[in-house]
Amino acid sequence: MIYQRSSALFAEAKKYIPGGVNSPVRAFKAVGGDPIFVKKAKGAYLYDEDGNKLIDYIASWGPLILGHAHEPVINAVVEKAQNGTSFGMPTEIETELAKLAISMVPNMDKIRFVNSGTEACMSAVRLARGFTGKDKIIKFAGCYHGHSDSFLIQAGSGAVTFGSPNSPGVTQGTAKDTLLADYNDLAGVKALVQANKGELAAIIIEPIAGNMGCIVPADDFMKGLRELCTQEGILLIFDEVMTGFRLAKGGAQEVLNIKADIVTYGKVIGGGLPVGAFAARTEIMDFLAPDGPVYQAGTLSGNPLAMSAGLAMLTELNNNPEVFKSLADKAEYLHKGISEVLINKKVAHQINRYGSMISVHFTDEAVVDFASSAKGNNETFKKYFHGMLERGVYLPPSAFESYFLNDALSYEDLDATINALKEIEL
Ligand code: PMP
Repeated sequence: MIYQRSSALFAEAKKYIPGGVNSPVRAFKAVGGDPIFVKKAKGAYLYDEDGNKLIDYIASWGPLILGHAHEPVINAVVEKAQNGTSFGMPTEIETELAKLAISMVPNMDKIRFVNSGTEACMSAVRLARGFTGKDKIIKFAGCYHGHSDSFLIQAGSGAVTFGSPNSPGVTQGTAKDTLLADYNDLAGVKALVQANKGELAAIIIEPIAGNMGCIVPADDFMKGLRELCTQEGILLIFDEVMTGFRLAKGGAQEVLNIKADIVTYGKVIGGGLPVGAFAARTEIMDFLAPDGPVYQAGTLSGNPLAMSAGLAMLTELNNNPEVFKSLADKAEYLHKGISEVLINKKVAHQINRYGSMISVHFTDEAVVDFASSAKGNNETFKKYFHGMLERGVYLPPSAFESYFLNDALSYEDLDATINALKEIEL
């Protein structure tokens, strides 16, 4: 495939935008080469500026669970836009989306909308601090909760891809309140809690991690975290920006059967427009301004176009929950197909999967935390990534990212993907 025009557009973008992109992982730094510039997309396919058609496995990094330019979502946005795009005043649709979202997830009474997953996680932690009167939080190495200061401590995703899991610009003062634990290591968390007894506001976690590849929590780990938080009066924050409305109606809380104290959302809840949200029981949410003392706000929060996209998306998922099973079946098919090819090629690998999230790691060790994820062979990953791209398959351009399947993918697309892999020398 030819990517000439994309390369020319990238060269031009670099003159005016740092690194040519508005979010680092788009720049292909981890895999080399120039990024693909998209012209349009429909269903499971991207159409780039060179006229190539690509099978898409990132779906805008998760939001487009039903495929690109999904008609009910597009129609809702177009119709809404005719009446104006922003008012900075309350609108009925905010309550409609809030009501629906709360009805789909367990254990949440109220929800506040923001504009990104970053804002959702940042606000959730502030709320937890305000509610508990404590300062410290625990996060897990390799988990990513957006780019606000408190979270850029051993962060996953793009932060680790670019070698800055602890970003310059985050002050020592901020960093000292974020304590770090290893995913799936309950004993380590208990030791940290013991050493900081009475000082912890929250433990924040990706309940099924997606930013160091896909990592599933061990059974006892998540149950143990819940018990520990309850015992110690620490709020458990589930960052469901990736998993929310993707794994099931009720997200990871439902599939793991564990209730968090605060949950953050992003991606699917906005149907492809910029939306984040955080939710909790009334007692906690009433701590937020204007009723409570914890300040949080946004000029464009609850934006009508964004709300209409989210409402159309969640309405479809709520009415057709079989879509979650359909997605998981497709992911399983892809998992088996890729695994078979890699076994035939005698390439050491691990495939991690939960529902429609999946990641391929080129290592022979089980990938259960950040350290084991980082052992993946990046040279093999690069060959894999570019080999697939040459054959019209768009995968996440970093080994630390999960694929997000969308339900517009057909079994023919999955077969084409598996067949493309057969042709690649790794
Ligand atoms: N939390 C998780 C689990 C994420 O995966 C992401 C983004 N990939 C974020 C938070 C931040 O969301 P946003 O990029 O919308 O700020």
